[in-house]
Formats: sequence, C-alpha cells, structure tokens
Amino acid sequence: MTRFIFITGGVVSSLGKGLAAAALGALLQARGFKVRLRKLDPYLNVDPGTMSPYQHGEVYVTDDGAETDLDLGHYERFTGVASRRSDSVSTGQIYSRIIARERRGDYLGATVQVIPHVTDAIKDFVRSDLTDEDFCICEIGGTVGDIESLPFLEAIRQLGNELGDSRTMFIHLTLLPYIGSAGELKTKPTQHSVKELQSVGIQPDMLLCRSEHPIDRDARRKLALFCNLREEAVIQALDVDTIYAVPRAYHEEGMDAVVCSHFKLETPQPDLGVWDGITNSIRNPDGEVTIGVVGKYTSLIDAYKSLAEALTHGGIANAVRVKVNWLDAEIFESESQLQQLEGVHGILVPGGFGERGTEGKIAAARFARERRVPYLGICLGMQMAVIEAARNLAGLSGAGSTEFGVPDPPVVGLLTEWMRDNQLEQRGIDDDLGGTMRLGAYPAVLAPGSKVQEIYGTREIQERHRHRYEVNVNYKEALEQVGLRFSGMSPDGELPEIVELPEHPWFIGVQFHPELKSKPFDPHPLFTSFVRAAVEQSRLM
Ligand code: GLN
Repeated sequence: MTRFIFITGGVVSSLGKGLAAAALGALLQARGFKVRLRKLDPYLNVDPGTMSPYQHGEVYVTDDGAETDLDLGHYERFTGVASRRSDSVSTGQIYSRIIARERRGDYLGATVQVIPHVTDAIKDFVRSDLTDEDFCICEIGGTVGDIESLPFLEAIRQLGNELGDSRTMFIHLTLLPYIGSAGELKTKPTQHSVKELQSVGIQPDMLLCRSEHPIDRDARRKLALFCNLREEAVIQALDVDTIYAVPRAYHEEGMDAVVCSHFKLETPQPDLGVWDGITNSIRNPDGEVTIGVVGKYTSLIDAYKSLAEALTHGGIANAVRVKVNWLDAEIFESESQLQQLEGVHGILVPGGFGERGTEGKIAAARFARERRVPYLGICLGMQMAVIEAARNLAGLSGAGSTEFGVPDPPVVGLLTEWMRDNQLEQRGIDDDLGGTMRLGAYPAVLAPGSKVQEIYGTREIQERHRHRYEVNVNYKEALEQVGLRFSGMSPDGELPEIVELPEHPWFIGVQFHPELKSKPFDPHPLFTSFVRAAVEQSRLM
C-alpha cells in the first residue's frame, strides 16, 4: 500500500520544494523503499509547453511525451526513476478533463463544482498509476495562501482524512529570514504560513526550514510550540554548496528518520556513499574546463536546468570542474564578438525556438568547425550546425529553416509526418501549438564505425525529443559528400537524428535532448565524451 507524502511551500516561492522532494525520494530509496514523485501545478495552462522559458524555466519532457515542470528533472536526477505523464498535472489539465466529461454528459443531472468534482479529479490523479510503490511524494506547486492552490490543498486534506496518518504525511517548506540588524532568525513568517495551512485543515507533520544561518534550539522550540508539532520535526535546511549535498544534509538533520517514525517504519541507516562520492568529486576536481553555451535564454539559468546539470555530470565523469560561460547568441551576429569563443574548450548550442539569435548560433557552429573546437549541438543546435554546413561547405548559401520564413533551400523544414510506435502521426502548419510537437522517447539507429556508436557503445538508442522542425533527409547525400555524416537515423531512415564531422576532433549534433536523461550517478555518455574532448582541447591551448 502506497503512502503519500505531500510537500507544500510557504512564505516565499523558489525555496527549492522540488529539490527537497527529490532529496527525500533519494533518502527513502537509500532506506530500501520504492518511490515515485509527482508534481501538482496550480496554474491554468494545460502544461508548461507553451510558456516562455523566462516564465517557467525549462520544459522537462518524459519518455511518454509529456511536457512537464522542471522539478520532474530533479526527481529523475535524484532517484533515477523515469517520470511519466501520470506524474505531472495542472489545474488546466484537471479542468479540461472535467469539462470534457461534463459535455459528454457524464455528470448528467449534477451541478459540477470545485468540491467535489475538482477535488475528486485531483485525488484520482494522486492515486492513479501506482503499483508497488512504498511512497508517492507529491509536491504542490505555488505557495500556501495563493487562491489557485486552494483546490489542491483541499484535495490533499481530504486524502489525509480518508487514508489517515499511517498513509499520509504533510511536510511544509518555509523560510526563516535573517534580520542582520537584530542578529536574529525570524520565525513569524513561518508561524503565519502554518496558520494559513491550518485554516484549510492541514496540520503539517514536519517543517523544513530554509535558512542561511543555523537555527538555534530556542527558535526550534518556538516553532514547534506555535506550529503544533514535535521539536524534532522542525528540520533545519541550510544552504549547501552543491545540490547533490542535499540528501546528506537533510539526513544529518533527521529528515528521513522523522518520516520513518511518522509511518512507524524501521530500517537500517541509509547508505549515502553514492551521494558522498558525487559531492566529493564536485568539491575536489583535478582540473577545470570552460564550455561556452551559446543560447537565447542565457540570463535565466533555470531555462537550461538539465543542461547545466548534465555538464556537471560530464565533469564528474572526467574528474574536472565544468565552468559554463553563458553567452547570448545574438552577440555573435557581429563577427568581432567571436573572439569571446577563443578561450573556451567546448561550444554547446542548446535547444531553442524562434529566429532571434539563430544567425549567432550558426556563426558559433562555424567557429567550432573551422577552429576544431569540440561542438555539441542539441536540437536547434543540431539544426544550426546542419544549416552552417549546407551554406559554407555545400555552397547552398540560402540554406535555412522554415521555422524562420521561406529559405531557399529549406534544409530544415516542418515535420508533417512520422511514426510513433506503429502509428502515423500527422501535423499541419495550422495545428494547435500546445502538445503537438514530436515529443518523448524515440529510437535512433547508429551507423557502424561512427563516433556516436563508439560513444554509446550500442547500435540502437532511445532519446527524448521535443521539436516541430527537422533536417530534411533529401539533403543528406549532398551534405555527406562535403563531410557531414548522418550517423544516427530513425529506424525507417526518414528522420536524421544525429550528424557528425568525422574529420573534426569532436563535432556532433543531435536532434534529441540527451541532457534530460543524465544523472549524477550515471552521466550521459554524450556529455562524458564531450567534456573529455574539452579536457583534451584545454591541453592543446
Ligand atoms: N525550434 C526547433 C524545432 O522546433 C528546435 C526545437 C528545440 O530545440 N527543442 O524543431
């Protein structure tokens, strides 16, 4: 029987609820339990797929093709459990389902209301698609007190009531601000936040208190007293130097012990050796390389969350620190700025949408090709590398993507048909934008003797996709003739998945997002190999 742990947030947003959930998942795994993690988002969008990365950060894609919140990336990176469509929901999704059912006549005769219809749909989501999991950790997006989160809080309150203490637990994450002039940590915002939670009928079983300074005994006692919980259930969550130190830090504060005692479970102490190894290699690298990431959303690191983590993982695999220079692609539209790339040991052009900055990305790909600097192009970054090769190697000077107009020739074009399992998917230019891209895991076949085959050590791979445009296979021959090898293709040979330059030390473009599957304890082979190439490059410089 699955137990449910609900994590809510109070005082302010951005306290790291997702990381807290992920770290708790890792700790419970280390105690031998099977976990699943879920995110409930109160916004009205059906999913974050159509939101700007500036609004929402990265869109995390699951194997089964859901576009989800970036917290699901944390969950996977900390637990290794592949998330699914059934691990992410929003108010928009809940309401769409209810309204569709209402139109079908499923509620015939009834007035459809927030309670019970919306709350029932939320409860159904929480309990769906679980088999032998010991724990399902559910993070509620937003901050307690928001109007939008009320139905979610009501639904989890009801679940707490229906399933009882032995199957549910409530954790509230808050902030203890430090007032310098008074030299004091303040507990009042947390007290108010817990009052808010209690006013909707939820008594937290644990407070996880983010703080820049150690929380003394007095403050803990006060919080326990005013918030109606045991003192040991007030867990201090101090800032740490790397996110991978969080499981160890929370364990030292007793988080997993309090959870186990709440559920009356006894287990041996968890072995956190894996996490200690990871933090140790992050803290004590043997060297450093610099990677220039040439993108569009470089002012908001959350827009490239998985990418930044995957680079860190590549560093762990090579015992080096990976320093990232986030570079706005637009600057490279002016040639003189390319000198900014002279000091980097590798260039990465990540995924992206829209025309802005694309000429700068093409210039960066050209710089990498001509100067023999390791290059990894991801999704749009692959498309840009192909356009660069078409223009400057194959002499197709007008080559471009139909995403940005009517180029001649359209080397990258709208993807109108493809196979998903054994089904034909079709799209047109006027289709909805939400949820209609080629999404999720698709297989690719790697060419024998290619660099990528050597890197992956296998002939067939599965990687996650999120794209609407695609390199047109009709240009394959012309591009291969000038040295760009199409080393990964969809099994039917129709869709280019990987290109590489065999004559270059390390130049690879992939149509998929390898960063989504990388983990600190299992770095993605492409990132491991790319960082290794950067290490070699640094020795040449
Ligand atoms: N905009 C491009 C496309 O839709 C690339 C997408 C991406 O980089 N994720 O194909």
